[in-house]
Amino acid sequence: MSFKSDIEIAQEATPQDIREIASKLGLTEDDLDLYGKHKAKVDINLLKKPSGRKAKLILTTAINPTPAGEGKTTTTIGAADALAKLGKNVMVALREPSLGPVFGVKGGAAGGGYAQVVPMEDINLHFTGDFHAIGAANNLIAAMLDNHVYQGNTLDIDTRRVVWRRAVDMNDRQLRNIVNGLGGKAQGVPREDGFDITVASEIMAIFCLSNDIIDLKERVKRIVVAYNRKGEPVTAGDLKAEGAVAALLKDALKPNLVQTLEGTPAFIHGGPFANIAHGCNSVLATKFAMNYADYVVTEAGFGADLGAEKFIDIKCRMADIKPDAVIIVATVKALKYNGGVPKADLGPENLEALEAGLPNLLKHVENITKVFKLPAVVAINKFPTDTDAELKLVEDKCRELGVNVALSEVWGKGGVGGEALAKELIRLTETENNMEYAYDVEDSIKEKITKIATKIYGADGVNFTAKAEKEMANFTKLGFDKFPVCMAKTQYSLTDDQTKLGRPTGFEITVRDLTVSAGAGFIVVLTGDVMKMPGLPKVPSAEKIDVDADGVIAGLF
Ligand code: ADP
Ligand code: MG
Repeated sequence: MSFKSDIEIAQEATPQDIREIASKLGLTEDDLDLYGKHKAKVDINLLKKPSGRKAKLILTTAINPTPAGEGKTTTTIGAADALAKLGKNVMVALREPSLGPVFGVKGGAAGGGYAQVVPMEDINLHFTGDFHAIGAANNLIAAMLDNHVYQGNTLDIDTRRVVWRRAVDMNDRQLRNIVNGLGGKAQGVPREDGFDITVASEIMAIFCLSNDIIDLKERVKRIVVAYNRKGEPVTAGDLKAEGAVAALLKDALKPNLVQTLEGTPAFIHGGPFANIAHGCNSVLATKFAMNYADYVVTEAGFGADLGAEKFIDIKCRMADIKPDAVIIVATVKALKYNGGVPKADLGPENLEALEAGLPNLLKHVENITKVFKLPAVVAINKFPTDTDAELKLVEDKCRELGVNVALSEVWGKGGVGGEALAKELIRLTETENNMEYAYDVEDSIKEKITKIATKIYGADGVNFTAKAEKEMANFTKLGFDKFPVCMAKTQYSLTDDQTKLGRPTGFEITVRDLTVSAGAGFIVVLTGDVMKMPGLPKVPSAEKIDVDADGVIAGLF
């Protein structure tokens, strides 16, 4: 079997004028900042006059994936196209891809097959420049901080306890740990420093959680950038940075409108990491979409133990929204992987491994329906390598257990391949739900973490290292204990050990350390080492990317 690549399919499409796409939402040219013919930003002031519409919000999440990614973005786009085919006024809301994975291993993040957003080359490369603006905003704070130290340091910043790092949207391990300010008295104050990838910057998380520009400014003000020599926090507000930072982000804050291959309007806006941040597109894009469409399909990063949990406990809580239905994407490959098959052997039929992996899916279904109390449907994202017997086994087992399930063929067929899924979504969103959070923000930090670990991961309990205990006490003293918690854990397992697949029992989670993102408004809980500046692999995807004399790009996937 040979298939067209994502970029080949995308380049064969004839996208509509973006003004026509906007008109499907009732938006006129006056409401848009046009970026060429196929991209536009929308005017966020429109949110001040609510349209009266209140869309059904559909969240796409997944089982614990294989290292390749299992088709959440593809399914999100395909489900929206399928709803559009059934005559619904629907929008997609997704994250913007980062240049790190585009040039590294994973590739782009604009969907796949016949369920993609276009122009995929632009979306995967600079797009409308938002990430550069976010990087610049991040680095302005860094420059102001080091300048403050150089100019006399009236805030008494302890240069050994600067927590604000510089940012660039690139996988560049060379910049992970650096020493700067070298060269003598006039060149700055030497200190150890480092870069994070832009998507790991707290500015990105703030950008995505802000309800408007004033909220953004207030959040920036609260960012803890360093500690003084008494051990007290120094904030971006102390550096008087919030106004200029917000000014730099004024245009970036407007959601980017594009379209799917089938002409469904899509917002692609913001892209925080799913480990040290919450991993979903901006609140502004979601809210805007909910104001102008009747159905909005959106995606949360990683599996449901991380992505959906943070979507609900962090984003929904802060934005005062809730999903009306949840799609849990499962693939035969990922189920076999969870059943113990190594990545290289996932191709051939293996019913035994498939069945062994099913408990992983069932745990995620239970989490969504029993813990969060939301209606859910399992979408089996069909791959060309899946056999009929494998697909049937998953469907039969789900039905046997009373789990809603639909086969999704959107990758191969576009919207028509998602009809069964779309019909199920319409049915599920018809009834009001009583969503519950996994924890109360008033709980202590320890209680919050313990509730997530026991209810969502299925752990017996949580171990806290001495360092973690010390940080919890410190954050409680500083008044940060009423924030939601943002778990940083491996995405491959329900546990904190990526080799424990399926549905492990009899385990504990170890919390090694905690950090605070006071501007974003959450405590980051680290269960392992988190790489905030990835490196490139031995053969980076960048080696295959090219552009010809006509400006046509090849090699993106
Ligand atoms: P996620 O959002 O879960 O990370 P994506 O939707 O980005 O996953 O898909 C990851 C990759 O897998 C993409 O390259 C996409 O084209 C490919 N893919 C997704 N679904 C299928 C499918 N049904 N068949 C073949 N390839 C697929
Ligand atoms: Mg994705």
